[in-house]
Amino acid sequence: MGMVHETTCNHCDLQFELAVGGSMLAEMFHCHQCDEATAVERDRLRDAHAEHANAIDATQCDKTRDSSIDSSMAQQQRAELAAAPGGFDERLQQLAGLCPCGGQFGLYAQPRCPACKSTNLSLGDVTMCFD
Ligand SMILES: [Zn+2]
Ligand SMILES: [Zn+2]
Repeated sequence: MGMVHETTCNHCDLQFELAVGGSMLAEMFHCHQCDEATAVERDRLRDAHAEHANAIDATQCDKTRDSSIDSSMAQQQRAELAAAPGGFDERLQQLAGLCPCGGQFGLYAQPRCPACKSTNLSLGDVTMCFD
């Protein structure tokens, strides 16, 4: 469930409403560079995730075949694969597209003040809930 908070920017004192969290159908992606946000449907996220998990499993099968690989190494490899070009982060960015400002959307990017682009925000009262 998502919530709209009465939000205050700690940098320029602007008050605005900020939607936090996703809905049942979509997850909000924030731009890394500005205050734009875009919604990506959860179905598409799930597909990208499944596709990526398959790709990792395939890679790992290859590795385990020729040598023993301990689980911590495998975990590290997973993280590297997720961040690598063509990895999960990049898939997410393809799903979300590019922001009009030229920045990239990220699921874990911080929301920003629409005026000064600061991420130093105070969330206040919830003014609305949505799902
Ligand atoms: Zn942007
Ligand atoms: Zn501000």
